[in-house]
Amino acid sequence: MSNNRTEIAQLGEFGLIDRISSHTTLQNTTSVKGIGDDAAVIDLGHENLLVTTDMLLEGPHFDLSYVPLQHLGYKAVAVNVSDIAAMNGKPQQIVIGLALSNRFSVEAIDALYEGIQAACKNYKVDLVGGDTTASSSGLIISITALGRAAKEKTVLRSGAKKNDILCVTGDLGAAFMGLQVLEREKQEFLINQQMQPNLEKYEYIVGRQLKPEARMDLIYELEEKGVVPTSMIDVSDGLASEILHLSKSSNLGVKLFEDKVPIDSLTYDTALEFKLDPITVALSGGEDYELLFTISPSDFEKIKNHPDIHFIGHLHENAKQNVMISKQGTVVPITAQGWKHF
Ligand code: ADP
Ligand code: MG
Repeated sequence: MSNNRTEIAQLGEFGLIDRISSHTTLQNTTSVKGIGDDAAVIDLGHENLLVTTDMLLEGPHFDLSYVPLQHLGYKAVAVNVSDIAAMNGKPQQIVIGLALSNRFSVEAIDALYEGIQAACKNYKVDLVGGDTTASSSGLIISITALGRAAKEKTVLRSGAKKNDILCVTGDLGAAFMGLQVLEREKQEFLINQQMQPNLEKYEYIVGRQLKPEARMDLIYELEEKGVVPTSMIDVSDGLASEILHLSKSSNLGVKLFEDKVPIDSLTYDTALEFKLDPITVALSGGEDYELLFTISPSDFEKIKNHPDIHFIGHLHENAKQNVMISKQGTVVPITAQGWKHF
């Protein structure tokens, strides 16, 4: 046995996944796309099966002192549906792995499943199985979602072409600012138990944190308009991090324009209240679950007037040059801060 020990923090989450991926070889021709996209792509002959899994842990991912269980259940489904959407797929089924301790009552689990069922209804997915086990360290919910996509309409992170237009849906940074507000209220409550939380003013951003929606609506709209993105990813870690994933997978560089990045006015004002830079919040915030995708310039006409799609940049040949043109016109390198789990 060697005495070598490398800390996981040295690699980081993405470094660790790259390492696992480099030690993995696909043996079956049906495994079209393995590690490295929002979902795995399995060839079923007539179409593709999409498979994705996401785990939510009490502690690193949620705090039950301010996250209602219904919302948690809804979110656990939505984040998986979001990864199916990011492949231009339609979600079909989910299976749920649940670990819990006797801290939870039957009523608490009912509440969790109310949220899960609401999301299933909304996204038209069927809960078809799972596993239940005891946990000594809080609640863990692991959901695997299955989806389908026509072969020629399955969209990978790697398909972007030079001069493609970079698009993002909705607005960014709201979920992160919602979390900051919830954390602040919690701290104030710990100091003064008489305090009543005052969240009304922050309803939109707190809602974006507690009850995110997967953008399946946009997937159906793009289909109606006859647009197949050339590449796509969902924004779970933050715009900057997802841009770098698209760039690396497609082997192209991104030029992003700061003035085009969509930030809701409440997100903007709340960032300033917290002495944070709104664009940094939008770039690094995470948990927006919007879709970041590229389209061929020839498809621009079809969606240019869509109120919820923003054209924020374009792709160029130099994969090492991922830059943002600031409002002042300066060129700023795009770096991913992401989440430091380790
Ligand atoms: P997303 O944010 O879209 O859920 P992740 O960053 O979690 O994607 O994962 C990126 C890729 O790495 C995916 O293809 C995922 O399936 C794969 N992956 C993540 N963790 C592991 C692991 N422990 N073993 C194998 N593959 C993994
Ligand atoms: Mg994803």
